[in-house]
Amino acid sequence: MSIVYKSEPLRGAAWQRLFAEALPDLPFHLWPETGDPAAVRYLAAWQPPEDLAARFPALEVLFSVGAGVDQFDLRALPPHVQVVRMVEPGLTAGMVEYVTLSVLALHREFPLFLDQQRRGVWAATKGLRAERRRVGVLGLGVLGLAAVKALQGFGYPVSAWSRGRREVAGATCFAGTEELPAFLAGLDILVCLLPLTAETRGMLDAARLAALPRGAGLVNAGRGGHLVEADLLAALDSGHLSAAILDVSDPEPPPPDHPFWSHPRIWLTPHVASTTHADTGGEALVENIRRHRRGEPMLGLVNRSRGY
Ligand code: NDP
Repeated sequence: MSIVYKSEPLRGAAWQRLFAEALPDLPFHLWPETGDPAAVRYLAAWQPPEDLAARFPALEVLFSVGAGVDQFDLRALPPHVQVVRMVEPGLTAGMVEYVTLSVLALHREFPLFLDQQRRGVWAATKGLRAERRRVGVLGLGVLGLAAVKALQGFGYPVSAWSRGRREVAGATCFAGTEELPAFLAGLDILVCLLPLTAETRGMLDAARLAALPRGAGLVNAGRGGHLVEADLLAALDSGHLSAAILDVSDPEPPPPDHPFWSHPRIWLTPHVASTTHADTGGEALVENIRRHRRGEPMLGLVNRSRGY
């Protein structure tokens, strides 16, 4: 029985050292080294090999080295293979930082002031107390919930939207497509922390953006595929939306002549909102393999039919 790691080599070397100590009976191979392919039970990867099923016939679990699994072709995997996404405190903390920074930047109108600085304009605005700035988070999973709690700490009235009905102390929770318009209508800042699935692809379109109150801002740290980019540009250019902070695009990076690079009210970061940390991520992987060996549920187990 063995594990193969196929992703960023530096993190792989760190995980190989960790596994030698924590699970010495489980050989840890760094791709393209795989040992005996028939002995491979676990694969930790961002992009698995295309011939995964034929190459590793005894594979039991495919671990994503990131929080998302939209890069996998879930339908092409053998039905018995379990898929697990990364849930680890370092990744969550990074996303909380990014979302907090972005919401504060929109709340304090930094995109406007940076644009003014570039144009040599010195013009103050009145600003708004945090208690008056309504923030909403799309997705109330591991990352969405952590973001909601951090934002509540600043005094923002926070609401959130998920598929199933959830309750979070002090937050207003909405569920399902039918409650989405009411959720959007009550926001000044919208944060997207959804997984990319067949249902969520393209959901931030002209109609959804129009459902936000005039002057609202957007933070997209989910996936580029959630957003219809032309619709965002139209909403910014018409003045309906004030600014957008985007960590993701589709494709990544945007083409050289894409308006995202130079739009005065878009801040673009290169998919850096958060990442799996070598230390805490490695510990989470070890813990999940121990759970799997004991027959216990793994953290971050993906429902393959839902796609997240
Ligand atoms: P989770 O699986 O823990 O949470 C997903 C949330 O989205 C759940 O609340 C779920 O609802 C909700 N959701 C999914 N589909 C729908 C739908 N159709 N309608 C309504 N709600 C829906 O994921 P994480 O919080 O761990 O991660 C979220 C995403 O963040 C990742 O998939 C990835 O795309 C992105 N990400 C981006 C990073 C970056 O650097 N930019 C880094 C890490 C993650 P319910 O609770 O009812 O199931």
